[in-house]
Amino acid sequence: MADDNNYVDGFTGLTIFTKGYTYTYDDIIFHPGHIDFAAHDVNLKTQLTKGISLSVPVVSSPMDTVTGAEMAAAMALQGGMGFIHYNCTVEEQAAMVRQAKRYVPCTGSAFEPLVLSADATLGQVEDECEGLGLSAGKYPTVLVTETGELGGKLLGLVTTSDVDMLAGKSTAEVKLGEVMTKAGDLVTVSATEGEEAVRAKLASSKKGRLPVVGEDGALVGVVERGLLKDQLFKYPTPMGTATVNKEGKLCIGCAVGTRENDKVRLEALVKEGVDAVILDSSQGDSVYQMEMIKYIKKSFPDLQVIAGNVVTSRQAERLIGVGADGLRVGMGSGSICTTQEVCAVGRGQATAVYHTSKLAAEHGVPVIADGGIQNSGHITKALALGASTVMCGSMFAGTAEAPGRYMMTEDGVRVKLYRGMGSLDAMKKGSSTRYLGESQRIQIAQGVSGTVKDKGSVRNLIPFFAQAVKQGFQDFGAKDVKMAHGMLGDGSLRMETRSGAAQHEGGIHDMHSYTKKRW
Ligand code: 5GP
Repeated sequence: MADDNNYVDGFTGLTIFTKGYTYTYDDIIFHPGHIDFAAHDVNLKTQLTKGISLSVPVVSSPMDTVTGAEMAAAMALQGGMGFIHYNCTVEEQAAMVRQAKRYVPCTGSAFEPLVLSADATLGQVEDECEGLGLSAGKYPTVLVTETGELGGKLLGLVTTSDVDMLAGKSTAEVKLGEVMTKAGDLVTVSATEGEEAVRAKLASSKKGRLPVVGEDGALVGVVERGLLKDQLFKYPTPMGTATVNKEGKLCIGCAVGTRENDKVRLEALVKEGVDAVILDSSQGDSVYQMEMIKYIKKSFPDLQVIAGNVVTSRQAERLIGVGADGLRVGMGSGSICTTQEVCAVGRGQATAVYHTSKLAAEHGVPVIADGGIQNSGHITKALALGASTVMCGSMFAGTAEAPGRYMMTEDGVRVKLYRGMGSLDAMKKGSSTRYLGESQRIQIAQGVSGTVKDKGSVRNLIPFFAQAVKQGFQDFGAKDVKMAHGMLGDGSLRMETRSGAAQHEGGIHDMHSYTKKRW
């Protein structure tokens, strides 16, 4: 093992981050290692919380210009996860969870099948068809489950041909259980199967529709052959599988506050099947947050709770001590954030990630490096400095999946709104509790509101980031996140700080003109 008393090259994280300076990602540079594996051998699978693992270490911020239903679904379909903002009513947030959960993991399709119980009659199917505007006598595929709802155990499937066989009989009273093809005889698709496998099953079975089931046989959705042609794989998951829970549904997260009325919000979200909540605060080390963590762990033991934000190990220890399943780290590092300027508190993000992760690792609690991610190199740095995932706002604002419409600027640039949740604009709509400003007569903004350029779809961005991070890992010599954390701990990950000139040199320079294409 290299050690700093026996100087070879560079320094350990411990040496760099204990010298009295606070550093951000751009201040640090890693030294390359020795390459003895390919970039595609790097596995980015990681823990978001103690109980949720992701195949891509990226999540989207709970901000009202970043994560609504579509972004949350798209992130989970890509193997990351999205946290739906709470700058809205309880009903609106619950509806977004419901909508995101409708996306079928292996297909990305939000098509919802007609689901009934075995006791329902063909007459009821006709009524339902009428309600759906389908012509009489033309049966859609009907899925039969134990509960009569999506999410119940799949019992069978009824198609037009099952009903046609009964021609001439009075069908209104015939129960679906009598005519259905039983689950054991059906070709089904597992919710975790990838695009290729689903295509192959649709082709070999020659069926128009296949039920999608979760691990325990619960019905998750349906894949349709017709949709395969184009929009079905709107969100393919080339870097791994979608993030699904044990029912085979997409994992969806939400932000909530720590006030008494947030308990009502929490209950509504749990009813919709939310998988993890973030206690959204810019300074998370508070009695309010500690009480809320205890309340959630007692009332909803299966719900994963992410606490924060924190930037010091002492803050982290207090939240972990009362049961946090994950920690969100960052104060003042966000692109839209003015906290350090207005309140004089915070920490350089690289230093914050290093120290909080060191403490959290002793307790087996994963850290989310939140804010300040501007490029794939920053993701690699955050992970190598101890974080298990990164959370991005500006990186995903301006994508097709972010809430809001595109606008054209005067000089012809397509942009979308991106605003801090502590900006006056956002606080006017209700987000002031995050910044402890709701009862104050003079509201102090801790964020700005503006626009970001159109970035296309996260369907393209995430595979790009994942591949770039894999290349970074290959360069410094880690095959996965765990190995990177091991190298940080044992000092074999060597690094240095960069002077201003070194940072300038590390960027593009001395060009008359250039275009920067990402892929
Ligand atoms: P970005 O990825 O854009 O650099 O940072 C996003 C993060 O900034 C969010 O996840 C959140 O932690 C933080 N954030 C969002 N809005 C505000 C704000 O108005 N003020 C501050 N201080 N931080 C914000």
